[in-house]
Amino acid sequence: MNEHTNLSLAQMDQMSLFHPVTSISDLQKNGPSIYTAAEGVTITRDTGATLLDMGAGLWCVNVGYGRKELVQAGAEAMQQLSFQHFFGGASAEPTIRLADRLLGLFRDTVPGSDMARVFFGNSGSDANDTAVKLVNYYNNLRGKPAKKKIIAREGAYHGLTLASGSLTGIKSYHTAFDMPLDNVLHTSCPHYFAFGKDGESEAAYTDRLITELEDMIAYEGADTIGAFIAEPVMGTGGVFLPPEGYFEKLQDVLDRHDILLIADEVITGFGRTGNWFGSGTYGLRPDIVSLAKGLTSAYFPMSASIISTRMWEVFENASDEMGVVMHGFTYSGHPVGAAIALANLDIMERENLAGRSATLGPVLLEALRTRVGDSPFVGDIRGIGLMAAVEFTGFPQGAAPHKIVARHATVAGVLTRALPYLPVTSFSPPLSVTEAEIIEAADRYARALKAA
Ligand code: PLP
Repeated sequence: MNEHTNLSLAQMDQMSLFHPVTSISDLQKNGPSIYTAAEGVTITRDTGATLLDMGAGLWCVNVGYGRKELVQAGAEAMQQLSFQHFFGGASAEPTIRLADRLLGLFRDTVPGSDMARVFFGNSGSDANDTAVKLVNYYNNLRGKPAKKKIIAREGAYHGLTLASGSLTGIKSYHTAFDMPLDNVLHTSCPHYFAFGKDGESEAAYTDRLITELEDMIAYEGADTIGAFIAEPVMGTGGVFLPPEGYFEKLQDVLDRHDILLIADEVITGFGRTGNWFGSGTYGLRPDIVSLAKGLTSAYFPMSASIISTRMWEVFENASDEMGVVMHGFTYSGHPVGAAIALANLDIMERENLAGRSATLGPVLLEALRTRVGDSPFVGDIRGIGLMAAVEFTGFPQGAAPHKIVARHATVAGVLTRALPYLPVTSFSPPLSVTEAEIIEAADRYARALKAA
């Protein structure tokens, strides 16, 4: 017998749910926002209010809400083979086809990449944990057991498990959780607008960051560093586009010091930057690519780690000696998730959603610039593809204008995200968004800014 049956749904939430990344006192004061339905880019609350979701959930509903094709793909897959594990060589058709398709997609859209295998998991965080473990595995098998440290960047977001949360470079996620782990180092956040010095050109700023990285590697010893992890565009940090020449120079440093590159494409994968992958947009040659979110457009929790040929050859050669690769999860390769991912990729291809993201990105930027660009508190509006940001400046110390405006925006009927690192609000609508919806969302956001 449930002792809470007399409570409203909101009260029941307050008395029973432990929300992720939520202030306990705010929830007790204000109660939850309960959503009941969604279609396309529009999401409906229990009050009946409808909002334009300019966050695509958490940067994840790339094909938009309510896609019957995905519902059907999931239902049919469940009927056919509701579960299959992949331990010990067990396998299933949708997952085999998905691995093959992801390798093909990456090969065809990221010039110079050389990827060999796909490992599946459940979330972006566990994909990055897998990446850390595979870096260790690789270097243990190569007889370089000291080469284990991972360099991440301040302002990065890579998840919140113990390993991925340590890679994350935003202090508020570490405080009170005894993170980061000792093997993780953080180098400076590459965000020219906020961290470039007066009079410093963008190219000179990039050189400063690269010199800092070289110094860090020299200080620690290249033989202790296994990998560098980077989001092609830093999302949760504040939609930080890499400064001029950054990845080209970074890749060169990593190559010279035999350091692997992990591309965290949990946000940038599947069209967000206007190409299929951010690695294609910025010319990365990663050894491990972490994917999640847009892989299934969040219709099923699933992640993928694409592994390079140079790593795979080491794994393969050492296999007889090492025996079973003792890594994996119950739901690794879940056939229902794989069937949904395949149907999701069908939609992305048929509707050319990566191309749409490239075309509509400038529309989103223009809509924001013309509506909120002249506010004295808006310092920068930037983006690539359908990931954009408004960065606030010039406000009194201690204020959080991006949070206040985001609250007003909810009332005005648009969902945006006020980010936790710098005073930035992000816009990352489903890639199926229309031009009219972008304009309407920008109008609503401008009204919210005025009201705040
Ligand atoms: N990596 C990046 C770049 C992300 O943005 C996120 C989530 O926002 C993650 C990893 C973690 O993914 P998840 O929340 O699915 O664990």
